[in-house]
Amino acid sequence: MEENYEVHNEGLTDQDREFEKRLRPISFNDFKGQKKTIENLKVFVEAARQRNEALDHVLLHGPPGLGKTTLAYIIAAEMDVNLKVTSGPVLDKPGDLAGILTGLEESDVLFIDEIHRLSPIVEEYLYSAMEDYRIDLMIDKGPSARSIQLTLNPFTLIGATTRSGLLTSPLRARFGIKFLLEYYDAEILKKIIIRSADILDVEINDKAATELSSRSRGTPRIANSLLRRVRDFAQVKGSGKIDLDITQYSLEAMNIDKHGLDEMDNKILSTIIEKFNGGPVGISTIATAVGEEGGTIEEVYEPFLIKEGYIKRTPRGRQVTKKAFNHLGKPLFGDMEIQF
Ligand code: ADP
Repeated sequence: MEENYEVHNEGLTDQDREFEKRLRPISFNDFKGQKKTIENLKVFVEAARQRNEALDHVLLHGPPGLGKTTLAYIIAAEMDVNLKVTSGPVLDKPGDLAGILTGLEESDVLFIDEIHRLSPIVEEYLYSAMEDYRIDLMIDKGPSARSIQLTLNPFTLIGATTRSGLLTSPLRARFGIKFLLEYYDAEILKKIIIRSADILDVEINDKAATELSSRSRGTPRIANSLLRRVRDFAQVKGSGKIDLDITQYSLEAMNIDKHGLDEMDNKILSTIIEKFNGGPVGISTIATAVGEEGGTIEEVYEPFLIKEGYIKRTPRGRQVTKKAFNHLGKPLFGDMEIQF
């Protein structure tokens, strides 16, 4: 089964990527939210800079669109070093990785997105690179094949993953700094939307920004892409300025849920209610019923549904809350075992 990550990330077009680049914060001060993570990162970056050393390896974990790639760019900029970007599925041969590693200058950052999708052989190759800044390179083939050891410049590996559960423990153990990125609250998303509107040179009023922020699934990438679409509606159907009316009109036209839940979120909730009497039901059963991978549900969808109070974790499985019933306009069942 395809991982949902494809939809959220790899499904981006070149145009989307270009747009994201324009809106990407470039310094710690520009980056909104994730307060604790940023405070700590600032200290680690400052300390590494004072010692003139490469920053320790960093693992960033969290659902798509919360700022992992953005943070990698910011860390490289704040360290004043070069950044090389690649991803787990792209690095399929140790030779590809060796080529990248030997090209890194002192303290440079190598960003590997979707690091949980590295092939085991490439992953193993990374171990000595991360630990001792050394790699073994095989040269020649057949009887004259031999391995030579190359010393690398000290570098920082930043790994990003939506699925930290899939990371092997030897790899995880080699990251000295680990952060879990969290969903953003509406207040911070609103600031991000206002900043983005400013960069895009489109006027947005306070009420419209508030509305958009509450319908963005706690995710800056979604907030920015909704802003982009509402800008289109404002230009063609409105006055060019973004106000509450045109925002609501656009969101309605795009079928965006009032509370920012996406299609899969709603499918998960309605499945638990309709097929499993509201739960409790195990994650793998839900996964089969909605046609998604259990791990993806657990790491991409469920955290937001729990944060917003639609689902609870119980020892016997997942259970929807009254809020989920209300949200979907479903009556509570008379004979339900649910304890709210
Ligand atoms: P991820 O790598 O976690 O999937 P990205 O770093 O690519 O997410 O972020 C997606 C988009 O959201 C970026 O273009 C960036 O503009 C925006 N973004 C993410 N986090 C923030 C933030 N804290 N402040 C402002 N914009 C953000």
